[in-house]
Amino acid sequence: MIDYADYDVLIVGAGVVGCAIARELSKYDLRIGVIEKEPDVSLGTSCRNSAVLHSGINYKPGTVRADVSVRGNAMMDALCAQLKVPLKRIGKLTIALTETDLPGLHKQHEQGIANGVPGMELMDNERMRKIQPGVEGILALWTPSSAIISSFGLTIALAENAHANGVTFHLNTEASGIDAAPDRLIVMDRRGARYSAKVLINAAGLHCDEVGRMAGVECPRIWACRGEYYVLDKRLDGTLKTLLYPVPGPNDPGLGIHLTPTVDGNILIGPSAQYIPDEDREDYRATADIMESLRREGLRLLPELAASDFIRNFSGNRPKQTPPEVGGNADFIIRDDSDRLHGTSAGMINLLGLESPGLTSAPAIASDVRDMVLRRIPAAEKAGFIAERPGFVGTFSSLPLEQRMDMVRSEPEYGEIFCRCEQITRKEIRDAIENPLGARAMVSIKYRSRAMMGRCQGGFCVPRIVRMLRDEYGFAPEDYMLKAHAAMFEGPRETGGAGEAEKNG
Ligand SMILES: Cc1cc2nc3c(=O)[nH]c(=O)nc-3n(C[C@H](O)[C@H](O)[C@H](O)COP(=O)(O)OP(=O)(O)OC[C@H]3O[C@@H](n4cnc5c(N)ncnc54)[C@H](O)[C@@H]3O)c2cc1C
Repeated sequence: MIDYADYDVLIVGAGVVGCAIARELSKYDLRIGVIEKEPDVSLGTSCRNSAVLHSGINYKPGTVRADVSVRGNAMMDALCAQLKVPLKRIGKLTIALTETDLPGLHKQHEQGIANGVPGMELMDNERMRKIQPGVEGILALWTPSSAIISSFGLTIALAENAHANGVTFHLNTEASGIDAAPDRLIVMDRRGARYSAKVLINAAGLHCDEVGRMAGVECPRIWACRGEYYVLDKRLDGTLKTLLYPVPGPNDPGLGIHLTPTVDGNILIGPSAQYIPDEDREDYRATADIMESLRREGLRLLPELAASDFIRNFSGNRPKQTPPEVGGNADFIIRDDSDRLHGTSAGMINLLGLESPGLTSAPAIASDVRDMVLRRIPAAEKAGFIAERPGFVGTFSSLPLEQRMDMVRSEPEYGEIFCRCEQITRKEIRDAIENPLGARAMVSIKYRSRAMMGRCQGGFCVPRIVRMLRDEYGFAPEDYMLKAHAAMFEGPRETGGAGEAEKNG
């Protein structure tokens, strides 16, 4: 357990934004640390969303959101190819069902033109049905740059690649106070360990205002607005050829309830939009009323749905700057607040109110933050930056047969299925257990391998995984299950970036 670590740049929060920044900065000669209060990266909003790369039609021209979403979307193909993250450019139809929706649809089109959204087309019913057979509506806006992605897959990949390039991740480490030294900001965690930095980056999502205030910077208050979802079984894979969205109303806090196919072949119904009390911004419960309304909406949109198709639910909370009585959305705040600090020459960059489309925008936000950091700490590009992540896109079972046969010949553990629903092999489970960040929670195995995500929700594979943890890694199953949580009270987990561990340890 460390009690002091010194960095050039320290990032608070390992969601998609914090991890994208860490990876971007790892291209430079900088000592970089990330602290994350949870036992793994991507356990906040970044694993709890629709996983859509938005085109940029929804955002007012001239706003930060319009700028970073269009740029971020365009950067994703190259990034996902390097990091082996699944991404499908399936496009989106925003559909006017009646005349009343038309002004809203035309507004989206105009915003898209002003924001530089590529390839848009307005389509009548005949043309929209060529994309999605049977769809109803009088006019639709087609945006081919809309896409689906694995949101937790991207966040984990960014973090693991940043780690391979020397970034140190401190998991189970919650920033609880910030002191100013003459040329440093010093972040304290709950156990009293200290992490100092020349530049501090606040990427704390739902808690960004609290972290900003710890450093004495006035930040707009954040309201958490929950979105609940149902996940549908893969039996329906292929039903949706594209994303189908209603035209959003002017003050809607989200983009409306809709069906979203996932890169893994499931369909999501949701998200709802409901402000929750401030006592617990991370209250991720699914509520009976909303589940019932999502079920009804799902049956209206896909009448062939069976009760057994609804396999699980989840929710994610938007960090909003707009209070419940106002609704709608405020613009992202991405700003160098160094001038607002007192008694130090250190720098601080605050990322505030990154609700949707923070996932789409993450690579563009990372490049803007990189420029802000380099203005404060001029650093050279690092020789030997590792851009590619090893491995393959998706799961072993999605690879061509010939490739799988070759892989089984050289690694027999690919020949043993551990998770029957998702067809996940023993080798994929082992790779997830031995993840480079050293994250130790069942959810770490789940998000890395996709085991436990199928229709039996772990009924078949969990006993096997638990036996493997016990027999091959010496963990009592309940220790492993609880380890992450126990660690929060006992001590943090440091995962020194390749080559950086001693320097920072
Ligand atoms: C219902 C819903 C649907 C959405 N759909 C989409 C979509 O389809 N497309 C899209 O582009 N965007 C979407 N979004 C938005 C997107 O998910 C977020 O903008 C994005 O995930 C924000 O990432 P982040 O890294 O800023 O925040 P987070 O992922 O929340 O990361 C912040 C991290 O900081 C950590 N943290 C907080 N406080 C501290 C502390 N004191 N010390 C240490 N660590 C701390 C948290 O544990 C967390 O891991 C959606 C959001 C919601 C809620």
